[in-house]
Amino acid sequence: MKIIHGRAAVSSTERRSATFTGEVWADPILAATDGVTINNVFFAPQARTHWHTHEGGQVLMVIYGEGKIRAEAGDAQRIRPGDTVWIQPGERHWHGAGETTCMAHVAISLGGPEWLEPVTDEEYRGSGADGTIRD
Ligand code: MN
Repeated sequence: MKIIHGRAAVSSTERRSATFTGEVWADPILAATDGVTINNVFFAPQARTHWHTHEGGQVLMVIYGEGKIRAEAGDAQRIRPGDTVWIQPGERHWHGAGETTCMAHVAISLGGPEWLEPVTDEEYRGSGADGTIRD
């Protein structure tokens, strides 16, 4: 058992850039332990991940603001505080802030990520084949 009391005092909030578009900061909560990694992630408006997958899946719990998430197979959907998302192992997806709103989520990642190409502005804005964003 390991109890984590708030953020780890020894770690600094990390600016994430190589696999994200826009301004994204992450606070490591649990460094990779038994295949589980937990981060609090803060996205500025329009910031988002690249397309990616998670080896063992991922749980996202939105804690602030309003954002978007999309699996390759579907349209983008809005996510808000209180929403919990399960992303299946190997499911290609991205997540990020809204166009004019910040978004913060807790990310519980199982196994390592595989990072793919950036989400284009067109994909980010429109997102579905028909540009739909579902509430
Ligand atoms: Mn993800």
